[in-house]
Amino acid sequence: MAKVKVFTNILKANDSIAQKNRDIFNKNKVYTINLMSSPGSGKTSLLERTIDSLKNELKIAVIEGDLQTTNDAERIEKYNIPVTQINTDGACHLDANMVDGVLGNYNFKETDLFVIENVGNLVCPAGFDLGEDDRVVMVSIPEGDDKPIKYPVMFRKASVVLINKIDLLAYTNFNMDKVKKDALNINPNLEIFEISCQTGEGLDNWFDWLREQVRKKRDEK
Ligand code: MG
Ligand code: ZN
Repeated sequence: MAKVKVFTNILKANDSIAQKNRDIFNKNKVYTINLMSSPGSGKTSLLERTIDSLKNELKIAVIEGDLQTTNDAERIEKYNIPVTQINTDGACHLDANMVDGVLGNYNFKETDLFVIENVGNLVCPAGFDLGEDDRVVMVSIPEGDDKPIKYPVMFRKASVVLINKIDLLAYTNFNMDKVKKDALNINPNLEIFEISCQTGEGLDNWFDWLREQVRKKRDEK
């Protein structure tokens, strides 16, 4: 009993801080995504591709969440955009308080798109609102096609599913139709994009979707 109560209180505190973060993003009309996946699905590669293609038209800023290292932030730094590494020191998710703690590093008046790369984990990041506009879940071909049915909460709360590494499809028994069907059963509103951060295939659809969200956010009253 006690354990359940503690967890509820943590989430309540998280939600009120998340709302404060959201207020800052809204006030500055910054479109914010919380990018989640298992370790190794290609979140950072997606970011590199996205920044490389959109940095001349959108002002992009990034938070990199990681258990221990600064490897991913170093990859993003090469593009000369604002990036902060949050090391969770073993915690397997980002929470709103960790995000709040680094927001002072950014000039949100000069930001169109803010990407928060969560710690690689499909379980508890789903329980922590960070203040984002949308959650983007990535799965990749080598991980197998059972992610939606194994981690339904992650898919229920997401707006987009990116199916990455489609260049490897021919070498696996990954069932694309099944993944899409399972994901849409959980959440019929999901946008699903098939992409390869290796070859670039399908990325234009993702970029168009992002441009559209940034435009909508900018036009919000
Ligand atoms: Mg990464
Ligand atoms: Zn966790």
